[in-house]
Amino acid sequence: MRLRVGLGFDLHRLGPEARLVLGGVEIPHDLGLLGHSDGDVLCHAIVDALLGASGLGNIGLLFPDTEPRYKGMSSLRFVTETVNLLWQNGFQIENIDSNILAERPKLSPYFPAMREKLAEASGIPMDRIFIKAKTMEGVGEIGEQRAMAAQVIALVSQVAAE
Ligand code: MG
Repeated sequence: MRLRVGLGFDLHRLGPEARLVLGGVEIPHDLGLLGHSDGDVLCHAIVDALLGASGLGNIGLLFPDTEPRYKGMSSLRFVTETVNLLWQNGFQIENIDSNILAERPKLSPYFPAMREKLAEASGIPMDRIFIKAKTMEGVGEIGEQRAMAAQVIALVSQVAAE
């Protein structure tokens, strides 16, 4: 069995006209994430971490934001499609760990719901998906609530072909 690690990062701007969706869960807030899909930075960073670990591409390549059918779509779909692609190529997900970088609102009450949605979308148990949140102490574009970001690391395994 071969183990491979992948790193994902994403950042989206915040605006009053958008909904806040993180890990597939809609969170009541006065600002939301702007984007072609639902702007879910956590899902997008998960997709890039999985694609990086497996060497199967990146989110911009697989799910281009010029594609009309992705407009307003739940980013959980990107996670499901990515996991299917990994499975087709003999990869299994060992675990996913993440940081959400957001000044407000307090996100920890939503972690269980996010982990449940992500487990459902990816077909791996909830105890292999971990989420943490950090504020930026008021500093920079995230601290000033103009953006949110997510960092993800994923470990995948592949049964050796030879
Ligand atoms: Mg994105």
